[in-house]
Amino acid sequence: MKITNLTVWQHELELRESYSYAGTTLTHIPTVIVRLRTDAGLEGWGETCPLGTTYQPAHAGGAIAAINEMAGAIVGGSVLPRQLSVRMDSALEGHRYAKAALDIAAWDILGKSAGMPLNQLLGGALSDPVQSYYAIAPLAPDEAVRIALDRVADGYQALQLKIGSSDLEQDCETVRRVWESVPRSVSIAADANRALLVEETLHLSRNLADVPIAIEQPCSTAEEMRSLKGRLHHPLYWDESTTSPSVVLEALGQGYCDGFGMKLTRVGGITPMLGVRDMAVAKGVKLSVDDSWGGDIIAAACAHVGSTVPPKLFRGTWICRPYLSGSYDQNDGIVVENGQITLPDRPGLGICPDANLFGEPVIRMEA
Ligand SMILES: [Mg+2]
Repeated sequence: MKITNLTVWQHELELRESYSYAGTTLTHIPTVIVRLRTDAGLEGWGETCPLGTTYQPAHAGGAIAAINEMAGAIVGGSVLPRQLSVRMDSALEGHRYAKAALDIAAWDILGKSAGMPLNQLLGGALSDPVQSYYAIAPLAPDEAVRIALDRVADGYQALQLKIGSSDLEQDCETVRRVWESVPRSVSIAADANRALLVEETLHLSRNLADVPIAIEQPCSTAEEMRSLKGRLHHPLYWDESTTSPSVVLEALGQGYCDGFGMKLTRVGGITPMLGVRDMAVAKGVKLSVDDSWGGDIIAAACAHVGSTVPPKLFRGTWICRPYLSGSYDQNDGIVVENGQITLPDRPGLGICPDANLFGEPVIRMEA
C-alpha cells in the first residue's frame, strides 16, 4: 500500500482558559495536523503539537518545515510504519516530533486496513477505559486544594501538581496541603517541568520527605537529572529529558529514574513508543503515555497505546481535552469522563477529523 497524497495543516487549538507551567503561560497553542491517503483508498490522520516554543526544542513551524523537507520521501512510498521511518530518516536527521505525525497517520491507515482499532492491532488493551490524570497549574495552596478536590470528585485517581513557580516554599506547602486533602488512593506527581536547580530539588524532597509523591523532571538537563540518583526521598520520573529511546535505555540501565512522563511525539511516534513501553515494562518502572499537547488525534493515539501498558505500571494518559473548547470530530471526539478515557471502537485511531475546521493546507503533495 503506497502513500499517494500528503496534506498538512497548521491549526490553532481553542483553549477554555490560559495554560500555565514552570513560569510560562500560553493563551493559544498551534498544532500541526497531517493526513495521508493511499492507493488503497484509505486515509490516516497524524498530529504533532509541541506546546509553544519553549517547552522542548520543537515548535509548530519547525514541524511544518521538517515535513516539507521529507515530503518527497514520504509520497509515493510504502505506508508501513517501519519502512516509512527509514525513508524519513534518509531524508532528514532528527526531528522526531515531526516524524511522529506521519508515523501516527501510518498506524491509523494500518488499523483501517486491518479493520481493527489501533489498540487491537498493537496486541490488545489491558485497560478500557484508560485512566487519565489531571494537571493543576502552579497555585497557592487553597486554590490548588479546591481544584484537586473538584477533580477527585469528578473521578480522577491521579493528579499532577505543577511546581517550579518562583516560590519554592509555596510549592512545598501546596503539594503537602493537596496530599493531606485528597484520599490516600489518589496518586500525586509534582512536576517542575525543568524549572528547579539540583539544590532546590534536594530541598523540596527533604521538605516533603513524609509526603508520598513522585517528583517529575525537576531539573533541566539529563546531567542534572542523573546527579539526583540516590539523593531524593521520592521516586524520580523523567519526562523532558527522555529525548530518544536510547536515553530511555540508558536511564533504565543505569537506574537513574523510577518512572517516566512519556511523550509520544518526542520519541518519534507510536513505533518507537512501543519500544519505550516494552523497556519500561521489562524494568518494572511506571510510565504515562501522553503528549506535550494536541487535539483528538494525539488523544486517540495516546489512549490506544496507553491501554496496552500493564495497569500496575501505568500512570495514565493525560490529554488536553478538558482544557479545550473544541473537538476535531463532532461525533466521536476523545473525552475524559470520570477521570477515564473510553477507547474508540472504530478501526485505526477511531476518529474522523473534520478537515473543514483546519482552513487552507500549508503543504499539499500528490504522487
Ligand atoms: Mg511532565
